[in-house]
Amino acid sequence: MKVELIAITPECERIIEIAARTCYQSGDKMVPEKLGELLPKLIAMGHESPFEHAYATFKISDVSRAMTHQLVRHRLLAVSQKSQRYVSEGNFEWVTPPTVPAGRKTEFDADMLVIRDMYKKWKDSGMKNEDARFVLPNACTTEMIVSANFREWRHVFTVRCHRRAQWEIRDVCLAMLAELNRQAPHVFGDIAKEFC
Ligand SMILES: Cc1cc2nc3c(=O)[nH]c(=O)nc-3n(C[C@H](O)[C@H](O)[C@H](O)COP(=O)(O)OP(=O)(O)OC[C@H]3O[C@@H](n4cnc5c(N)ncnc54)[C@H](O)[C@@H]3O)c2cc1C
Repeated sequence: MKVELIAITPECERIIEIAARTCYQSGDKMVPEKLGELLPKLIAMGHESPFEHAYATFKISDVSRAMTHQLVRHRLLAVSQKSQRYVSEGNFEWVTPPTVPAGRKTEFDADMLVIRDMYKKWKDSGMKNEDARFVLPNACTTEMIVSANFREWRHVFTVRCHRRAQWEIRDVCLAMLAELNRQAPHVFGDIAKEFC
């Protein structure tokens, strides 16, 4: 699993505070030494729209399609994902679940290699990527660029960092949460405190 923050709204906490203070016409109370202190209060009262003015974009790679299938259910995320139509999976890599016992990892790898051969067999017989992929496993690795505003990231982290969430999406979301908490602690601090 690899999670990289590739873009974030500059001065994100200041922009959110400007937006909120526009609502209350309290811009005169905005002072650099207290920058961001208003934001947890907005969260506590459910005034969440100001958090939509800040965005973050991540590159997520070396993760399974089982994981990304769950992430893309969050329809407010903007997603661009490696295509299995335009890109051949002839040499696909895979994610091995941690529940595969160390002594049976070779067996799991062998199963994946059998599937690789099946994919190649269908490709060699003239089938397009878009149909040969029907034999591919959920374990197949993929990569995506995913963007969202801070309000949506908070929502995604709340449900996907939970200990009952599936382990891989949880690991990915915990990594994104840790990074965004470094960048905007007044926005993500409460969720990071709960889950990190
Ligand atoms: C632990 C866990 C287990 C899950 N298990 C399954 C599963 O077994 N099967 C499965 O299919 N999915 C499952 N899901 C996916 C889940 O049902 C949602 O599709 C997913 O979490 C995205 O929901 P969302 O609210 O973030 O996003 P979106 O669906 O993108 O919606 C965004 C927000 O818009 C609002 N909204 C959207 N549509 C409506 C609507 N029609 N009416 C009213 N308000 C709306 C809601 O406030 C929502 O939060 C699971 C999710 C989690 C976290």
